[in-house]
Amino acid sequence: MPAEPLTDFSRLCLHTITTKPWSIEEAIEHYAAAGVRGMSIWRQWLEGRDPSQCGQAARAAGLEVVSLVRGGFFPALEAEKRLEAIDDNLRAIDEAAAVGAPLLVLVCGAVPGMPLAEARNQIADGIAAVVDHASSCRVKLAIEPLHPMYADSRSAVNTMGQANDLCDRLDSPWVGVAVDVYHVWWDPELKPQIERCAAAERLLAFHVCDWRTPTIDLLNDRGLMGEGCIPIRQIRGWVEENGFAGFNEVEIFSDRLWAMDQKAFLAKIQEAYLAHV
Ligand code: ZN
Repeated sequence: MPAEPLTDFSRLCLHTITTKPWSIEEAIEHYAAAGVRGMSIWRQWLEGRDPSQCGQAARAAGLEVVSLVRGGFFPALEAEKRLEAIDDNLRAIDEAAAVGAPLLVLVCGAVPGMPLAEARNQIADGIAAVVDHASSCRVKLAIEPLHPMYADSRSAVNTMGQANDLCDRLDSPWVGVAVDVYHVWWDPELKPQIERCAAAERLLAFHVCDWRTPTIDLLNDRGLMGEGCIPIRQIRGWVEENGFAGFNEVEIFSDRLWAMDQKAFLAKIQEAYLAHV
């Protein structure tokens, strides 16, 4: 059964990249004014700023900081690069703690030409190297499986099944999964793997947008909810039937939508949220 329509914005979260033209200060101001209740902050938005002050400003405006995006990119051909990635993830965990985000989202990484199984081994090693620090900072790590069109260079973790397998292998309460409908909507195993994920108490985040036909850019042509073919409400039903009660995070990368007046875009997001999420 699809979920019941949403009737308010109490579980609406926006990723700062969704409104890319806005600085973090503008995002906080406009999200709060519109009644949005959560924000997931991309690391670029904290550059040149004090993360703890940004977190305080968000909370003072009535916004919960839902996650920091993003860590990951663990695999590399050279050992030195793998160590650099681990250092960068340790810093990302520190930033998440400072901004007050309980979750760091991981885009796990891949290297063109590296066998995917080897990339997954390096991802497991990379996460294992930072999980103690995550635990001591009380920041959970969310593995986000990415659509297989990104298996060459962005993530060797492409299905919920692979993300669950990786979590089983790491066996830590500080490692879980972020379900992004854009990446996993096509997977015939999606529903049982959501059930498996939730049963292990590791379903940590839920991201929404839509899949446009045709998609004209592999990265920056995501659709607003309702513009594409993803059964978003059905998938929300599956995560909620399995106990997920967190935010519905709107994460859209779109050159077309970034070119709009962002206040008008935010109003469209809220309309689409009630109609299609
Ligand atoms: Zn996502």
